This record gives sequence, C-alpha cells and structure tokens, in this order.
Amino acid sequence: MPHSKRRIALPSMTPGTGRSIVFHRFGRSGSRPKAYLQAAIHANELPGAMALHHLMPMLIEADQRGRIRGEIVVVPTVNPIGLSQLVGSNHLGRYDFLGRDNFNRNWLDLSGAVAESVGGRLGRHAGDNIALIRKAALAALAGMRPVNELQTLRVEAMKLSVDADIALDLHCDLEAVLHLFISRQDWPGPARALAADIGAVATLYNDPYPESLTFSGVHSALWARLARRYPAANIPQACLSATIEYRGQHDVNHKLGEADARNLYRFLVRRGIISGRAGKLPRLKADATPMGGMDVGYCPKPGMLVYHAPKGSRVRKGDAVCEVIDPGDARGAKARTQILARTDGILFSRKPDGRLAWPGSVVYRIAGPKLLAHRKGMSGLDD
Ligand SMILES: [Zn+2]
Repeated sequence: MPHSKRRIALPSMTPGTGRSIVFHRFGRSGSRPKAYLQAAIHANELPGAMALHHLMPMLIEADQRGRIRGEIVVVPTVNPIGLSQLVGSNHLGRYDFLGRDNFNRNWLDLSGAVAESVGGRLGRHAGDNIALIRKAALAALAGMRPVNELQTLRVEAMKLSVDADIALDLHCDLEAVLHLFISRQDWPGPARALAADIGAVATLYNDPYPESLTFSGVHSALWARLARRYPAANIPQACLSATIEYRGQHDVNHKLGEADARNLYRFLVRRGIISGRAGKLPRLKADATPMGGMDVGYCPKPGMLVYHAPKGSRVRKGDAVCEVIDPGDARGAKARTQILARTDGILFSRKPDGRLAWPGSVVYRIAGPKLLAHRKGMSGLDD
C-alpha cells in the first residue's frame, strides 16, 4: 500500500488560529508488527525530526518495493503547540505556555479503563489478551472528549500509538551522547537490540510502573500494570516503548541524521517490520543501568558553569565534573565551587560551558550501575 500523509486538526484555542498534527503511514494499516515513531514532543528538540527526515524517504522506497510487511506510523513533529512557542527570537518548546505542563508528562494511563472493560476476560492465551487489551485501549481513547488543544493532542497521538508493537519517542538533551530510557521489563530483552542497533552510549531502565507518565512510560506501563493486576492471566510486555535521546540540541546535521535513520531502519528490519537482512547486531556500547543509579548533579549556588569532564566520558566518584564560578568574587580560585560525581559511571548529559546556573539547577547526569541512596524513590523516567 502506498505511503500516505494525513493531518489531524486540533481544536482552536484563540480566534483565528488553528494547528494540526501531520502523520505518515507506510505499509498496510492494521498489518503486524506495527512501529510508531514520533519526534519533538519537546518541540525544540529536533535531532529526532532530522533522523525521521532521512528515514522517511527510505521507507517510501521500501514501501514501493513491497518490503514493508507490517505498518509504520511516523509523526515527524508531534507537537505543533510547542513548535509555535517563539519568544524574543527564542524557541521554547519544553513546557506548555498555557498550562505550564511539561509536554512529556501527563500522558494517559489507560490501564484502569482497560481493566474495567476487559479485565474479567483476560485468560491464558497471550495472543487473545494482546488483542483484547489493544482494542479496549483504543475504545477508551475513542470515548474521551478532550476539550483543549493539548489534551486533544495527547489523545490523538495515542490513538496512533497505543496498539503499536514498538513505540519510539525521539528527544534530545542540551549537550549529551546518544542515550536511551527504557522499561526494566524490556531489558535485556528487545531493548538490548535497540540499544545496540542505534548505538546508545548509555541505557537507563526505569521501574515498570513509572509515576511521571511520560509518553514512552505509559506505553510500557500499560502492559506491566495489567500483568501485575491479573497475575493468573498471560499478559506479555507487548509494546517495546523507549525514549531515545539523540544527543544535544545542536546535533542536527545530515551526517548524524542519515546514520541515525540507517540504524533505525536496520532495527525495523531486525524486528521483521521491513523484510530483508538486518545483519549482525552491532556491539553493545554499554550495559543498561538503573534510574536509581543515575547521579544527577545539582548546582549549589548561582554562577557560570565550566566543565572539566567532556560528555560521554567515564568519571569516578569524587571527580570534579564541573565548577560554578561566582563572577562577582575577586578571589580567583576561591570564587569557584567544584561539583563532584557521586558515582562511577558515564557522564552522558551535561550543559554547554558558560551557561548560567542557579541553586538546584541540574548540571549533569551520570549513568552508574550502583543504586544511590540520594536517588531513592526517584525512579521516574527522566525526559
Ligand atoms: Zn525531551
């Protein structure tokens, strides 16, 4: 079936304005396996959109050659609200100006609605359960009557994604190496191949029931929550859902976009959505580590940031990752406060040098294997 491009209109929030979500479908609607890929829910994070820009022509060609066995839905920029948030020549796309929501929070946990409608019919046959749960989740979404633009966006995007076998949400950080947030349920299962194929430098797994309701979190938690609620039923983890962080905001260029698209394509082949040979799985760059082992560096005082450790480097507990400098203090080295790593691990995310920092602002993240006492209870997906 040929590639199609469709538009979903969102309700107008102010007279004379209107926005829409554009999505592309490759392969036959309803075929399996189904993959869903979206980018730029944080609308000023565009490296994922660049990867999809390079991936889509590859999918059109595969479609023309009859190679798409399943269905692939691509939403290159899923958040037209955030895309429009221009202020003083800056684009601010992480938080909704109207309700101040983080765009990647408050996605819909459908497990309660699904349990209510089909919980009593879930049994020993995994395939039947998957079909029942997907149908009930789609029906729950179809029954929703969101009133505003952002709620409509969430409901409409999930109508495209909730029945997918693979749901990938493409983001980026400020200055970072390629990393991945996944559910613990998927490691070392299918997420391992994803991490290897896309070349993730760090992979962090969440607990199976994250409370922060990120897009990828709700897609994996739907299955985990139902499996916990109905232990006698055979409910597999039927959606591999992940947040891919495509490096930093400025890492948008053809070389990276093309390579990322090729890697995503190979992963889709490996999962049988596109026919062909995926070849040998690339070497995994790093084992996955728990979210509770992620050291988050917080700035203790206001000032300007200078880093000692480059992104992607391995650091040791006690190493100075960066320092914050009080520009009004004349005492030279005494005006500098070092911020020290509290674990051994990979410094996968930081800020660019020279940023202003303030007390409590996040200045780096390190993926470490050991659970950290100060991270207890902070297992929510990060982005
Ligand atoms: Zn993001």
